[in-house]
Amino acid sequence: MKEIRILDKDFDLFIEYDAILNSIKQLAVKLNEDLENKNPIFVAVLNGSFMFASDLMKYVTIPSEITFVRIASYKGTNSTNTIKEVLGLNEEIKNRTVVIIEDIVDSGNTLEMLLNRFKLYEPKEVKTATLLFKPDAIVKDVKPEYVAMEIPNDFIVGFGLDYDGYGRNLKDIYRIKE
Ligand code: 5GP
Ligand code: MG
Repeated sequence: MKEIRILDKDFDLFIEYDAILNSIKQLAVKLNEDLENKNPIFVAVLNGSFMFASDLMKYVTIPSEITFVRIASYKGTNSTNTIKEVLGLNEEIKNRTVVIIEDIVDSGNTLEMLLNRFKLYEPKEVKTATLLFKPDAIVKDVKPEYVAMEIPNDFIVGFGLDYDGYGRNLKDIYRIKE
């Protein structure tokens, strides 16, 4: 389908699954080269990264583990302050090579928070693999090492990414209509 409607918004087909999968395979090749003998633990951030993590890990051939976390956000005492917390990390990551698997890096807020949290567990190193990166949207001083695709600063859905909870199951990526 070239155009779809989700709730009150219209979207155009933007990146087809074939192209997505190709870029994921290329990323896996890089990870296999760079992290060989490092016994990494991949940590996928739910919900958005579930499809990306699933396809990526099929092409990661080095010895590695994968686990999943979720970020809980809730309002702090100051109403403008959103406190974010990482839930579900039960594995020991001290002295491990950690690779965070994200769906998208936009402002970089989430990635910065994740990196700060993970440092508390004293990993050997923390790298980031993201399906999508919006270079024009970043405001934080963080940069994902492994990027499958760079995209312009537009709102997209599909392949794990949602609009208000919907659209995560779309196989292709769609971009919001102007
Ligand atoms: P950040 O601004 O912290 O880098 O991005 C955090 C989160 O915002 C992402 O994990 C994702 O859930 C959401 N996000 C950012 N850009 C988009 C987008 O274009 N589409 C969708 N569906 N979510 C986005
Ligand atoms: Mg979201």
